[in-house]
Amino acid sequence: MRPVSWPPVAFDFLQRLRRASECTAEASLDGLLVATGPDLLYLTGYDPPPLERLTALVIRPGRDPLLLVPELERQRAEASPVGRAVDIECWSDGDDPYQLVGALLPAEGTFAVSDRMWASHLIGLQANRPDGTFGTASGVLTPLRARKDHGEIQLLRRAARGADHAFNRIAREALQGRTELDVARSLATYLEEEGHESVAFTIVAAGPNGASPHHEPGDRGIRDGDSVVMDFGGRVHRYCSDITRTIVVGPPSEELEEVHEIVRRAQDAALRAVAPGVPAEEVDRAARAVIEEAGYGDAFVHRTGHGIGLEEHEAPFIVRGNAEPLQEGMCFSVEPGIYLEGRFGVRIEDIVAVTADGAVRLNHATRDLLAVG
Ligand code: ZN
Ligand code: ZN
Ligand code: ZN
Repeated sequence: MRPVSWPPVAFDFLQRLRRASECTAEASLDGLLVATGPDLLYLTGYDPPPLERLTALVIRPGRDPLLLVPELERQRAEASPVGRAVDIECWSDGDDPYQLVGALLPAEGTFAVSDRMWASHLIGLQANRPDGTFGTASGVLTPLRARKDHGEIQLLRRAARGADHAFNRIAREALQGRTELDVARSLATYLEEEGHESVAFTIVAAGPNGASPHHEPGDRGIRDGDSVVMDFGGRVHRYCSDITRTIVVGPPSEELEEVHEIVRRAQDAALRAVAPGVPAEEVDRAARAVIEEAGYGDAFVHRTGHGIGLEEHEAPFIVRGNAEPLQEGMCFSVEPGIYLEGRFGVRIEDIVAVTADGAVRLNHATRDLLAVG
């Protein structure tokens, strides 16, 4: 991990906090408790390490937000983007933080906690408010986080560009004779050199390994005729990249060429289906229809995509059963694939943003089936 300047663009955290507290009231919650994690980072720009010591942003309807932090984190909390604007209260080792949070809440009420709050913290809070009802904060925070503002899209675009460049570099190299692991290491290096502060994953799956979507790269040597699925990503200013391309070593077989073309057409069809108001599952259906028509329906074994932002996988999920309408500003992956067990796999993945005019690709690396040495 390299040091990150945060936030690199002017995020309006106070506006985000205001909206969170409005939505908390609208959801008839008596308190929203946000622990360390992406929700806290989104709302405040503050990102302390997840610890057994409780950090909690307490949002109550009609009250100013309050940030409760362990004493040893106080200086960092004060230096965070909202450090001067939000009340910060500290607890010292030996205090009971759950009692301190509990004292801010009514004895009976409905409370929501961030999805990433540790179970041990939730249980501590529940023990302190035995007559309270606890649920998850995602009902309130997911809709806020799912629609990206201009600055967030700018960062996702930068992350996507870095991933594109990493792909362009590996696609200029000879892969024959190298192991999957070796290629994965090169991709990680390129991601970092192309502006990523951290690398999250580098899947390199050659030949039959490509038929397993989340294959862990290993010692397999890459051979002539292999298709190679490369799915990788990391973070640029905390925002995630995630791209997949499938290339071939030497000239492709007719079958590989055909399957690659089907996946590419499925991805295009999914993109054409994207517009504000369209249910997320329609985008999945559009991709799936192309693959089914070509006779490979059973070989497309996962959803079409996932939202992306401060987390690699977040709302909206582009999956059957998700009737949630797409909205301007939502960003997600479109990544259909065909997996032929024991033989090979093909996946193509781009991140797109929803605009009034439909989908805009944030990735621009070629989607042609590139043949390398
Ligand atoms: Zn995945
Ligand atoms: Zn991916
Ligand atoms: Zn993905």
